[in-house]
Amino acid sequence: MPHATVLVLRDQLTRQVGPLADATPERTRVVMIEPRALLHGAPHHAQKLVATLSAMRHFAAELRGDGFDVAYLRHDADEAEDLGTALAAHVRAFDPPEITAMRPTDHGVAGPVERAVQQAGSTMRWLPNASWITDDALYDAWAEGRKTLRMEGFYREVRRATGILMEEGQPVGGRWNYDAENRQRPPPDATPPPFPSFEEDELTREVRREVEAAMPDRWGDADPFRWPVTRADALRALDAFVTERLARFGDYQDAMVEGEPTLWHSGLSVPLNLGLLHPREVVDAALAHADEHPSEVPLNALEGFVRQIAGWREFVRHAYRTRGEELRRANALEADGPLPPAYWGAPTELRCLGATIEQLGRHGYTHHIQRLMVLGNVAQLAGTDPAQVLDWFTASHVDALDWVMVPNVMGMSQYADGGGMTSKPYVSGAAYLNRMSDHCGSCRFDPKAKSGPEACPLTSWYWSFIDRHQERFASNPRMRMIVAAWRKRDPDDRARIVGRAALDREAFRDGQL
Ligand code: FAD
Repeated sequence: MPHATVLVLRDQLTRQVGPLADATPERTRVVMIEPRALLHGAPHHAQKLVATLSAMRHFAAELRGDGFDVAYLRHDADEAEDLGTALAAHVRAFDPPEITAMRPTDHGVAGPVERAVQQAGSTMRWLPNASWITDDALYDAWAEGRKTLRMEGFYREVRRATGILMEEGQPVGGRWNYDAENRQRPPPDATPPPFPSFEEDELTREVRREVEAAMPDRWGDADPFRWPVTRADALRALDAFVTERLARFGDYQDAMVEGEPTLWHSGLSVPLNLGLLHPREVVDAALAHADEHPSEVPLNALEGFVRQIAGWREFVRHAYRTRGEELRRANALEADGPLPPAYWGAPTELRCLGATIEQLGRHGYTHHIQRLMVLGNVAQLAGTDPAQVLDWFTASHVDALDWVMVPNVMGMSQYADGGGMTSKPYVSGAAYLNRMSDHCGSCRFDPKAKSGPEACPLTSWYWSFIDRHQERFASNPRMRMIVAAWRKRDPDDRARIVGRAALDREAFRDGQL
């Protein structure tokens, strides 16, 4: 008879840390629930649903294989309406004195679960969430009394506290950050290693068919599905990344190449966000590989990658924990336009956007710079309501979870918190996209034309954005030169640019551009 009941949430599929780390089959019953709302609530990319359901079912099957008693509720069971209803039914059936789980990262999960379990006559016991490199105390002590909370400062604190990439109290190589070296475009003959693809097994195929049948009109292709959904495949994906792509991760981190979705990026956000990989083991694998092959992995690549995991990922999670609800509602720039239909796949003449959305539909994946400088940038320049941008990002990406979307979309990409997360908005005109991508070469617009029908609308949208927000940005140290340059331009010129931008933005919102 089991002595402990452990709830495993859909993003906590781990036996490395948490309540299953030292659990034995004789003493533990595991509860797993596929909430029906996942399929029938707010929209998700089909591959996000397949990845989540398939990973959960594989995890349950592995536990059963090791002798655990797993009470697994599928989304089509009557009680699977939501987590609370399902857990209450479990309590009534098995009468556990308490149910243990790691505290959920996403907001709005713990409260309803706790209430339902209590009403059914049991207790919920939350353990600290061990899926992170840093704990709350480290962040809270660092943040205490600081006026501005920037990732870079917290990242240095994480490195000091953990010893990651540190040597006698100093950063390895003498500098904390090598980002300036990470903005190259790959030469035309450079071929990124193939993205490690994981063949669907029978279980995943079944889940995919289920998802396709349950939601025939869902946006995004379910097939081909290639993400790792087991611990073994996640470890293979990690190994393939450190051996094949880590060395060039830094150099080409900001580049965008059509037909090459991942380039030298890791693609590890999916197994990380499911819990199949722990961020510390990902960092350690990169450090170990670089240690064994010092001439192969340059420091700009290693540090650049470590910063994503131990810096950005941890920072974003604490930003969500401490002010996620404020971020969710923020709209400092008072943008209120609707999300243009191009975001749902309607044809657009903006090649950069069209190609990125096409990639997203097929794979559920875009890399960081595509998210920031194409998808987010275009939405912001078009004056889109950030809440609609957030909903769309969440619906369209395979790795979407509330804790990571809210700060990244609202804070980082849409500047909706007025600079709480970033010191300037991430906006650019055609020049940046032309420098960092190959989209402009096959676009009907000319990134270098200053005016006329061939001129890229993004450049006039950029200046129109500066014009709309010039009061706010005139005193921003990183924006004031741009504002000053805009103000120095001929007034007729400015009026013409703003007028053209207004017309084009309207056409874009109407699906005519
Ligand atoms: P790599 O480039 O290989 O980076 C390695 C890892 O670092 C990622 O897997 C991820 O775990 C972590 N990482 C890097 N940057 C961030 C960041 N800003 N926040 C959190 N983790 C980071 N990431 C998600 O996991 N889920 C999301 O829903 C998500 N939405 C985003 C939306 C916007 C608008 C932006 C700008 C970023 C978003 N990110 C999100 C962060 C980042 O873009 C993705 O983690 C990354 O592109 C995933 O691809 P990868 O695994 O190949 O990453």
